[in-house]
Amino acid sequence: MPQSSALTHLECGYCERRVDAGALANLCPACGKPLLARYDLAAAARTLTKQALAQREATLWRYAEVLPVQDPTFIVSLGEGWTPLLDARRLGETIGCPITLIKDESLNPTGSFKARGLSVAVSRAWDLGAPSLAIPSAGNAAGAMSAYAAAAGLPAHVFMPQDVPASFRVECAVLGAQVTLIDGLLTDCGAAVRQGAAEHGWFDVSTLKEPYRLEGKKTMGYELAEQMGWRLPDVIIYPTGGGTGLVGMWKAFAEMEAMGLIGPQRPRMVSVQSTGCAPLVRAFEQGDEFAAPWQGAKTVADGLRVPAAVGDFLILRALRESCGTAVAVSDEDMLACARRMGRHTGIFPAPEGAACLAAQLRLLEDGWISRDETVVLFNTGTGLKYAHLWA
Ligand SMILES: *Cc1c(COP(=O)(O)O)cnc(C)c1O
Repeated sequence: MPQSSALTHLECGYCERRVDAGALANLCPACGKPLLARYDLAAAARTLTKQALAQREATLWRYAEVLPVQDPTFIVSLGEGWTPLLDARRLGETIGCPITLIKDESLNPTGSFKARGLSVAVSRAWDLGAPSLAIPSAGNAAGAMSAYAAAAGLPAHVFMPQDVPASFRVECAVLGAQVTLIDGLLTDCGAAVRQGAAEHGWFDVSTLKEPYRLEGKKTMGYELAEQMGWRLPDVIIYPTGGGTGLVGMWKAFAEMEAMGLIGPQRPRMVSVQSTGCAPLVRAFEQGDEFAAPWQGAKTVADGLRVPAAVGDFLILRALRESCGTAVAVSDEDMLACARRMGRHTGIFPAPEGAACLAAQLRLLEDGWISRDETVVLFNTGTGLKYAHLWA
């Protein structure tokens, strides 16, 4: 049987309004919250089997049934996904938590897991006829969008704050994107994208403002299960900005259970943020459903400098349903933990990835994680683009 997308429709993650998946869509037309892709999982389960997967290509497109692109000619792939799940035993032993695993997302195209979301979002946007794409970003999302737009042959418009590190800016320019530097914050870049979208018809691929980056990111959940022999770890520690990966993995676990690939057991999900921008940690601690915007956000971890996440309620829901938690760590700790991770694993992590180790240390000290548990850290990007931080 051929593997083909079992996508049926979109559904608002908040008010559950049903939306047609056959046209370009951004947020829910009724309440303005993120739309989620829904599939005929019974149909998907007929071909997406453990045995079939063993024969498939080593990219995230191996999960085609639960991805949104029907016609394979629109798949824009640079080899994203199927990253290694490394046994960081030497690191684990030095910190007293021997079963520490690192999902090393720095091996993705453009050096970060943003490649997953943008491979799927750009493919689907191209499939649905988007004439050109736009994104506001101060970091890895811009490079990934530029790369996949280039691969598809679509014009790309990138808006970045003018103080963005050269490594991020230059990457987009070399990949052929139209880069505009804005004298302001990321929110000002977002406003410029909205204006361009209204005036020129650019399709806005901001985090969770279209439904399919989440679908790309959710494949981390599928891979984790598959690479662990269809079991899940006790704890997942995830550096959270917009939260697409965390919400995506949580969605993936539900889909996998519905397809009979895993049982009801779930990891405790941990969001790590920077003490300089921790809106979700604050909301989690206060028991809030939504996270109030963080004033004066400041952190060297660009991926974590997200003062207001559109999918805040989805992140908080996943943390609570999983009996997880949220932790803020200082930029200093991130930079020190990057050296510690590097020295004991051979991975040069992005500060966001290093933040996971800082959180793990804290949670071990508090007794929230016990020493015999299986813990997965997400190194979401390469440290190379942030080399200036340690120079
Ligand atoms: C974007 C980014 C994050 C945050 O990812 P979300 O899924 O949006 O929370 C973490 N780390 C790196 C390196 C990033 O680029």
